[in-house]
Amino acid sequence: MPNHPVRQTALRRTATLASLTTAVATAFALGALPGHAAAAAPTAAAAPAATPKAPAIQAVASFSILGDMVRQVGGERVQVDVLVGPGADAHVYQPTPTQAKTVAKAQVLFSNGLGFEGWMARLLKSANYKGTHVVTSLGADVQETEDDDHDAKPGAKKAPGHDHKHDHGKSDPHAWQSVPNAIVYVKNITKGLCDADAAGCDSYQKNAAAYTEQLKTLDADVRAAWGAIPKAQRKVITSHDAFGYYAKAYEVTFLSPQGVSTESEASAKGVAKLVRQIKAENVKALFVETISNPRLIEQIGRETGVRSAGELFSDSLSKAGGSADSYVKMIRHNTTALTGAIQIKK
Ligand SMILES: [Zn+2]
Repeated sequence: MPNHPVRQTALRRTATLASLTTAVATAFALGALPGHAAAAAPTAAAAPAATPKAPAIQAVASFSILGDMVRQVGGERVQVDVLVGPGADAHVYQPTPTQAKTVAKAQVLFSNGLGFEGWMARLLKSANYKGTHVVTSLGADVQETEDDDHDAKPGAKKAPGHDHKHDHGKSDPHAWQSVPNAIVYVKNITKGLCDADAAGCDSYQKNAAAYTEQLKTLDADVRAAWGAIPKAQRKVITSHDAFGYYAKAYEVTFLSPQGVSTESEASAKGVAKLVRQIKAENVKALFVETISNPRLIEQIGRETGVRSAGELFSDSLSKAGGSADSYVKMIRHNTTALTGAIQIKK
């Protein structure tokens, strides 16, 4: 199949460890972060305190953002394999046979739900998966997609050419883009890990509490950053419609030529309409997303005279060592990029 990834690297289980170390240096108390030893299996009795333990359980996370959250809560007790790695697009993903084997061995699997992983049901079936499946968006504040009939402000985004071939109903799957929702994800992850590994529950709860504090600080910082910008100026263009939750939480308007899934192509009519809208509303900030083909957004930039203000991370983290290699760093990167672009052009 054309989309079939040759991407074994997505399975690296220690992919974000370097970034976690960096995150510790940024003054957040993260609790015990692993100095992970990959294959060593020390005998428990003889091991000195400083020797990293072998993971107690194996977990699978469907995509990189979720993988980071599971690692934050799981710490060194949990080996986390990520199916859709940094830079890859979960909307159009196709799992490999190797990944089916990884899934089959896991005790707990975390997905986003809300139709984001249209390939998940097939994968679980082919892997004959018997472990716990945690849908991490459960209980989050879920928004509907705005396809046709919304009568909110005309600046709100449309999704021209978007069609629902995947079974995601009308819910917008990108719920993690609001930090209060991420806190709900962390609750679900903690419960899932406790269910799969009762002996580690104290440790998971402790990690989750420290991480949740970090997320609350993050949320407050994002609100403060946007608070400095008048609401009328908070308008940006992105390639696909992934920021509905961020938009609502922080009162920003996002316009995009592509719908909530990258599966559908933007129509010429939709693009022309967006170009008119950008000119009429005097939108100043235009961004490409790292998972999307930049060509369309570049075309819109040429037609409107709005220059690209950089990259946003929507559905994937950056590779380890990049500016968005954890959830917290991703939200900070996006917020700095967005507010910076708008303030410069004021
Ligand atoms: Zn998306």
